Amino acid sequence: MKIAVAGETREGEARVALVPELVGKLTDLGYVVAVEPGAGRGALHTDEDYLAAGAEVAEEPWTGADVVVSVNPLDLAVVRRLPAGTATVSFLPVNQSLELVADLRDCGVTSFAMELVPRISRAQSMDALSSQSLVSGYRCAIVAAGLLRRFFPLNMTAAGTVTPAEVVVLGAGVAGLQAIATARRLGAVVKAYDVRAAAAEEIRSMGAVAIELELETLEGSGGYAREMTEDRAQRQRDLLSPHIAAADALITTAAVPGRQAPLLVTAAMVEQMKPGSVVVDLAAETGGNVEGSQPGKVVRVGNAQVWGGANVPSQMPGPASRLYAQNVVNLVTLMTRTLDGVPAYAPDFEDEIVIGCCVSRDGVVMHEPTRSALGGPTEGEPV
Ligand code: NAD
Repeated sequence: MKIAVAGETREGEARVALVPELVGKLTDLGYVVAVEPGAGRGALHTDEDYLAAGAEVAEEPWTGADVVVSVNPLDLAVVRRLPAGTATVSFLPVNQSLELVADLRDCGVTSFAMELVPRISRAQSMDALSSQSLVSGYRCAIVAAGLLRRFFPLNMTAAGTVTPAEVVVLGAGVAGLQAIATARRLGAVVKAYDVRAAAAEEIRSMGAVAIELELETLEGSGGYAREMTEDRAQRQRDLLSPHIAAADALITTAAVPGRQAPLLVTAAMVEQMKPGSVVVDLAAETGGNVEGSQPGKVVRVGNAQVWGGANVPSQMPGPASRLYAQNVVNLVTLMTRTLDGVPAYAPDFEDEIVIGCCVSRDGVVMHEPTRSALGGPTEGEPV
């Protein structure tokens, strides 16, 4: 059994799919682990670290591999060199990767998408969306604290009292709750809002004030939010305006699965903020929660500096890689079974976790919405 770790080719990507510390988990299962030269460089892991951990370092590590793991999808040129039946495990944003999915299908590659791992309790240790959101949420709070030219905490000194900064967080999912926890630890006064009813209690449990708006909550399926109507979105913006105007720092992390990020804050609302205010928009890459935010840039809107997130987990490549690698190792472990007394890479496609994150297999797109988007046959029909 062989598992390959491919280097990342996406611009600005510093994470790696396997860290040296976890190589032993795979060799203990019976895998030969082969790593592409320089794959861990961005996360400060050298080839020597991987060799010392028991891996091989090889130019084309995927040759003869059962599974190829990476953070981002493999380049098409690599996919086309994989023998049919090889498996890939990576993030694979199917909505934006239809052409690549068609190639994976046509090459007979079995592809698994980390973002499709079902969010059930048994799969929590494989939930890479959560692990990377945790990193992003922490980073957002640190960025806000770094950009703000004032203290987060209350300071009582002989020279007088410095009042704490007020931070507003919009969207209190995994990233938002981590941003709240981090800003609280730094001593800021934090207020937060989320459209899900369950969020208010979670916000309070982090030591923040839950902003209560006279609006209906929006629960979707699987613990996620539902999209707002334009009328509700406008009322939410009106009701949030005074909270945002009073904030020193605003952090936005709102998302609705499969949709553009909701526009929560207009440029006019940011213009009401005080001089020196800071806005951190984690959703900048998916359309932005804040009007005018740009991914990877700091722009000025009114009195505020607006920071737009771009591949935020990659800005903390060490911990992001460690957590992602653990998610991948747990998924690969689930797919490794003892058959006739011998350990084998043998995913059980009856398992809801395995089938849930499988995008393509044996020349068929298994993920129903992607299959329809590609215009392929429905399940059971001949290919
Ligand atoms: P997400 O990244 O899709 O969204 C982030 C947050 O934005 C969510 O809390 C959502 O409610 C909020 N949001 C959406 N529209 C909004 C709006 N108009 N205004 C304000 N907020 C808005 O979600 P996520 O962080 O990945 O997960 C959300 C929830 O899913 C978690 O809090 C948790 O309850 C659940 N979850 C469950 C599991 C599990 O069971 N294994 C794992 C992870 C998350």
